[in-house]
Amino acid sequence: MSETITDVVCSFCGCLCDDIGVIVEDGCVKDTINACRISHAKFTEFNNGSRIEEPMIKADGELKPAPLEEAIEKSADILKGSKYPLAYGWSSTACEAQKIGIAIAEELGGIVDNTTTVCHGPSVLAEQGVGYSGCTLGEVKNRADLIIYWGCNPMHAHPRHLGRYTMYPRGFFRDSGERDRNLVVVDIRKTDTAKLADHFIQVEPNQDYELLASIRVLLNGGEIPEEVAGVSSGDIEKLAEMMKNCNYGALFFGLGLTMSKGKYMNIDNAISLVEDLNDYTKFVIMPMRGHYNVAGANTVSNWETGFPYSVDFSRGYPRYAPGETSAADVLMNGEVDSALIVASDPASHMPRKALEHLRNIPVISVEPHMSPTAEISDVVIPSAVVGIEAEGTAYRMDHVPIRLRKILDPPSGILSDEEILEMLFRKIRGE
Ligand code: SF4
Repeated sequence: MSETITDVVCSFCGCLCDDIGVIVEDGCVKDTINACRISHAKFTEFNNGSRIEEPMIKADGELKPAPLEEAIEKSADILKGSKYPLAYGWSSTACEAQKIGIAIAEELGGIVDNTTTVCHGPSVLAEQGVGYSGCTLGEVKNRADLIIYWGCNPMHAHPRHLGRYTMYPRGFFRDSGERDRNLVVVDIRKTDTAKLADHFIQVEPNQDYELLASIRVLLNGGEIPEEVAGVSSGDIEKLAEMMKNCNYGALFFGLGLTMSKGKYMNIDNAISLVEDLNDYTKFVIMPMRGHYNVAGANTVSNWETGFPYSVDFSRGYPRYAPGETSAADVLMNGEVDSALIVASDPASHMPRKALEHLRNIPVISVEPHMSPTAEISDVVIPSAVVGIEAEGTAYRMDHVPIRLRKILDPPSGILSDEEILEMLFRKIRGE
């Protein structure tokens, strides 16, 4: 007997598409409606062979099954016994779990950091420096007639972004959809998104800052050389005119801008360009957030500590110094002496030197699937998949909070991240 559940939210990328249909048969997801290929794979394959079935504790170099209470007790002992623990991950779980993670780090006098530190950290730094002109994705859908993707490839990373929010939907003031809009892509290569663009501008690698600056020079009445960052002055002038003359422009940027040479100064310059454009028309800017709740991790961290990521509690109050208190730095400098990793796989994305230290300290993983980080952990606690087996709140890339639904029961004995962390917090406090 099959059942179709509608209005399910996809907990994969920062688009948080909330129109997914899920067809459930015998307690398994058999098919999906409206899901992109990534989302379809998540819903239909999340329960495949890599699922961790029970808690495990490492003994004699091998992870062995253990009761949940024992795994929680062992985790609490590790964290309480360390001088400077790190609590890292958080971007692929719900806000309710993130909040407890921050409380644990505060209780222990450790560091809490989320994956922003290795993706849009520079964007957050720039936003703190110069502010930014933002909006919701609904506004873009209803109003924007010029869409610019700079240093990102949503056709692969956020497959429904163009279809749901930017180029293709019919909007209140854009009732012909695509025919009412122009798409510009700026990137170092002709990506699949660039192939759809009305105008593709190929910038030389690591010269985005110069290209942004040259558009600003034109907007401010100056002159530019014949070529900047591999782009002819004619093309830059055309782009500047297109930007000035649109009714509502939206610039979306990705790691091609945050993680290339210039880093947060690139974003500072992009935000300043948008500020300049607002002398002529309405223009907004938005980072393409990757993990489905990385925006929530920043928001919850801001509420609780005043800072969005890389928060250090070792002095008894929250301190924020990215580059010093970031997860990668405290690992590479060998400063932290244990790690609680929740909903993340730093062993797959941190620099090698950070990973070498992670291998040498006790690690606790709370994670539904076996991952390289789980494999090097001393304690592994499996959790329910948020948005499928557990409900919770997540923030879309435009900071709109969306409630994730529970559509299936988790395997017997498997709790949500929130429940596991609550148990751990109580054990640490000796309650
Ligand atoms: S675009 Fe992102 S949120 Fe939307 S269905 Fe695809 S993976 Fe899920």
